[in-house]
Amino acid sequence: TTIQKVKQEGGGMIASLSQSEHDKLSRSIQIEKRLLEALNHRDLHVMYLPQKDLESDKITAVEALVRWEDEVLGVISPEELIPIAEETGLINEIGTFILEKCCEQAAIWHSKGFPIKVSFNSSIREFRDKNMVKTIRKVLEKYDCPPEALQIEFTEKFALEAEAEKSIIQQMQTLQQDGVTFVLDDFGTGYASLRYLQLLPISQLKIDKSFISSLLQQEKLQQLVQGLIQFGHSLSLRVVAEGVESAEQFSLLKQIGCDALQGYYISRPISTREVENLLN
Ligand code: C2E
Ligand code: MG
Ligand code: MG
Ligand code: MG
Repeated sequence: TTIQKVKQEGGGMIASLSQSEHDKLSRSIQIEKRLLEALNHRDLHVMYLPQKDLESDKITAVEALVRWEDEVLGVISPEELIPIAEETGLINEIGTFILEKCCEQAAIWHSKGFPIKVSFNSSIREFRDKNMVKTIRKVLEKYDCPPEALQIEFTEKFALEAEAEKSIIQQMQTLQQDGVTFVLDDFGTGYASLRYLQLLPISQLKIDKSFISSLLQQEKLQQLVQGLIQFGHSLSLRVVAEGVESAEQFSLLKQIGCDALQGYYISRPISTREVENLLN
């Protein structure tokens, strides 16, 4: 990537960049600088996206989503932030910060009588850290959070790379034995072989929102999604759909067998207080 190249080859290569590459690079560098500052001041936030279980008709999980509004740069979306954080290695610090929030909140909710799961989005770079299991165990212990309350989401791109990295698979298996569950996020969008389904400890498939948005207009898509649900069930996996924005999508997905749903129709990402209102 460009940032890495510049760091290796020095400033000399900047001269060879096109204008748009140059703009992109300087924005990345600026974001990296401000992000360091934000991490030092613990200035990142988390919003929680509720997930509704269709059997009980209750919110049984929430997904933690990072939020950052910088004084200078304004709101930086996760779509811009996460790739830069992954590239620069700051994802490990962001991850630990979000993980702490997840476990702290999950423990609070459990102690208040709401045994919901809190989902954490992970990047493969975090699992390349040989201390990932240790870190997660330490954070769980610090907040007295039951491991069963923590879910870890990863993408097919992560899965494809993890297939070749034994130590990542081992760390995931160890966490699963502890009681932590794993979710395959954005299912259906990657280029992965399906071998990872056998290799990695997955309990849940989350069908990507790109399948859901035109579900009602395209019959083929309905058949495809129904097939994905049956596929998941045949592997004893829970199947969730994300990006549900309308009542029609909600009832169709329920009818074709989804186990749980997420999306603006159920709720936007909300604060901890709003989550509690919803649970009450
Ligand atoms: P994701 O994990 O697939 O999260 C779902 C994204 O879809 C979120 O965007 C969420 O706000 C949005 N969304 C939820 N319901 C709806 C809906 O009904 N319609 C539409 N159009 N969108 C909906 P967000 O928060 O911008 O996050 C984007 C991606 O950034 C996430 O995709 C995840 O891959 C990544 N991300 C977010 N927070 C973190 C984090 O703390 N760590 C890591 N590593 N990645 C994160
Ligand atoms: Mg996710
Ligand atoms: Mg997703
Ligand atoms: Mg996504």
